[in-house]
Amino acid sequence: KLEMERLKELIRSIPDFPEKGVMFRDITTALKDKQGLHAIIDDFTNRYTDKGIDYVLGADARGFIFGAAIAYNIGAGFVPARKIGKLPGETARVEYDLEYGTNTIEVHNDAFEKGANVLIVDDLLATGGTAAAMVKLVEMLGADVYELAFLIELEDLNGRDLLDGHSVYSILKY
Ligand code: IMP
Repeated sequence: KLEMERLKELIRSIPDFPEKGVMFRDITTALKDKQGLHAIIDDFTNRYTDKGIDYVLGADARGFIFGAAIAYNIGAGFVPARKIGKLPGETARVEYDLEYGTNTIEVHNDAFEKGANVLIVDDLLATGGTAAAMVKLVEMLGADVYELAFLIELEDLNGRDLLDGHSVYSILKY
């Protein structure tokens, strides 16, 4: 069984990507590792089995990798939150600020029933802007956020503060 310390060793850190001064945490090195991928998905699955979660909402694009596997394991449905212009049906959308400019994400507006219990999943929590937008999408459709789950949380950026007291779980902290 893979310890969390060994899992952390599987995350590659690349300086100055995508721009100077940023230390990018690259999860592809953990995903390609057979034990690493198992350790991540097993950890999430153990936490969310039998919690009454109806849907897993995954963030475009790395949130799809974990989100679909978790949904499958816990017997929930999977819903993608996509960058603008990708979903073919009618959507709900939220625009949020980036360091330079803005981003918009969408879900199909019939993705959740009112009162559905939704787990939000992404690979990494940084400033919390993306996660906060996902929370808004769930609430716009009248569903409830069960928790937000991340492989990695960058603690110095205080992303949790943007999440209105919603419960946050992260496997690895930096
Ligand atoms: P936030 O909106 O500032 O919290 O940024 C989180 C989003 O940016 C997530 O969708 C991440 O996939 C992505 N992201 C930010 N920094 C990193 C990183 O160091 N590694 C991988 N993804 C990152």
